[in-house]
Amino acid sequence: MHMDFSPQELAFREEVRAFLAESLPEHVREGARNTPSVFVEPDIGDEWQRILFEKGWLAYHWPTDAGGTGWDPVQRYIFEKECALADAPALSVLGLKLVAPVIYTFGTPEQKARFLPRILDGSEKWCQGYSEPGAGSDLASLKTRARLEGDSYRINGSKIWTTHAHFADWMFCLARTNPDVKPQEGITFLLVPMRQTGITIRPIITLAGDHEVNQVFMDDAQTHAQYRIGAEGQGWSIAKFLLENERGGSCAAPRLLADIVRLRTAADGQPSSTNGAYGHLPSVEARLVALELEAQALETTELRILAELKAGRRPGPQTSLVKLVSSSLRQKIDELAVDIFGPLGLQLPPERPLYGNSAPEPVGSREAQLATPTYLNSRAWTIFGGTNEVQKTIIAKTVLGL
Ligand SMILES: Cc1cc2nc3c(=O)[nH]c(=O)nc-3n(C[C@H](O)[C@H](O)[C@H](O)COP(=O)(O)OP(=O)(O)OC[C@H]3O[C@@H](n4cnc5c(N)ncnc54)[C@H](O)[C@@H]3O)c2cc1C
Repeated sequence: MHMDFSPQELAFREEVRAFLAESLPEHVREGARNTPSVFVEPDIGDEWQRILFEKGWLAYHWPTDAGGTGWDPVQRYIFEKECALADAPALSVLGLKLVAPVIYTFGTPEQKARFLPRILDGSEKWCQGYSEPGAGSDLASLKTRARLEGDSYRINGSKIWTTHAHFADWMFCLARTNPDVKPQEGITFLLVPMRQTGITIRPIITLAGDHEVNQVFMDDAQTHAQYRIGAEGQGWSIAKFLLENERGGSCAAPRLLADIVRLRTAADGQPSSTNGAYGHLPSVEARLVALELEAQALETTELRILAELKAGRRPGPQTSLVKLVSSSLRQKIDELAVDIFGPLGLQLPPERPLYGNSAPEPVGSREAQLATPTYLNSRAWTIFGGTNEVQKTIIAKTVLGL
């Protein structure tokens, strides 16, 4: 396989680098560096989203007629890689990368005109209403019920682990419209306005202390029938289309590789009590090299998938492979960071109490402070978007044909 970039692609890379150097504000980079979670919150992300929107580079993966750049998959990869190297914030994927492709692929012209411009200009934010208490891996067993009454759906049920529901204006929601057919056949894909009396959002505070996820209760919540995507009962195939994008649509390796480089630099600069800097300890060095090799192998797989996409083929269940490898790798990087810096991050000034009104002053480097929150937060990588066990089953059945 030929892996070098063409002269045109190298020129494009220079253009992206120049734009990032000039347009990515330092305080936004700083906010991204200090974020332990998967994507940044609006106070950091909105500014970067606006800058990208004004440049016309926000929806770089959308087709041109929907407002995208028309970049091919390799250009998209170069862009993501350069953004990762420059510490650009990872923007929420919920609107831009998850529901937008559903809308421009399955939506009516009216739905495209209603929703896509507001996703682009950031005036409407989204959350994903798939999982329920009792329906996660076994998503088809979901119980949220939607009934068509006149020209509106009345919705009752509860969604859980709903990321950024507290920021969202809309939820893309799977609901059961027909309980009398096979579970997969009775599901419908609805767009539901979040700011209405029938919706209550209850925060779930994670082990890392973050408020990212929520439980959402729908008690006679309503949405107009014009906000149904596709036909009644088509929700399952639309849901799977979206999950394919969620699992493998983005380029994971560039950010992982950039994080390994950062970890190495920080370890090199942090003296160990035994033998010079942490980065020079053979056990640390060996783990860094192993991670780097795994991330490079993942990058090769992702580039292979891009070649498929460039040739007009959908990667399908191969995306499960990327999800499986990239999420495990994410966790291994964060584990190594905790092994190196975790105890330093827990150091407290002796005169300050651990608990009480006066919060302890941070001690140690940024890496030390962030290692443990990031590690705790990244436990979720092997769960959301479908657990690793579920990805293995998909790979066994549909990729390996077992
Ligand atoms: C941080 C975070 C953010 C999330 N954000 C969202 C969101 O925005 N929107 C949304 O809809 N959902 C979201 N989720 C939910 C996520 O998709 C589910 O947690 C996930 O699908 C697993 O479902 P579950 O939690 O019900 O676990 P379960 O399905 O009950 O699984 C429990 C355990 O059993 C294993 N297991 C289950 N079935 C099988 C099987 N058939 N074979 C082998 N092992 C199996 C699983 O691998 C897991 O280890 C989020 C989750 C997290 C942690």
